[in-house]
Amino acid sequence: MSTPGVASRPSPIAGLGLFATQDFIAGERIAPYTGATNSQAPGPAEDGRIYALEVAPGLWLDGSSADNPARHANHACHPNAELVWHESESAAWLMALRTIRGGEEITFDYGFSLAESLLHPCACGAPDCVRRIIATPLRPALRRHLRFSRPRD
Ligand SMILES: [Zn+2]
Repeated sequence: MSTPGVASRPSPIAGLGLFATQDFIAGERIAPYTGATNSQAPGPAEDGRIYALEVAPGLWLDGSSADNPARHANHACHPNAELVWHESESAAWLMALRTIRGGEEITFDYGFSLAESLLHPCACGAPDCVRRIIATPLRPALRRHLRFSRPRD
């Protein structure tokens, strides 16, 4: 199944990425992030990866279905999209944060905690990449943690 406007292909960041095949303007819907919702976090998918998203407090979306190309969207330190839960439609959408040109990789902030970030390296390629997948507001805490946990010489 394909979603107009996007395509999955190998990414310089990690694995398969999600790429725009057309231009998007800031605030525009890019692709739905589809899957069943549940009050409990789903476990890893068949490929061992986790596509669980807490779309609202206590509400989890399992994005692991092959019908959900948006699951390939990578995290980046300067994402060009955000994942927005539309309560009235019970649906999550990737929305453009700025103008996105056809061919650009679509990325969003996975919003990982400090503990999660320590297990998930970031390779987004930004000059100031923090090297960990972590929610933007938590980056100062991560920098403090890395500074104080570095071996002393
Ligand atoms: Zn990064």
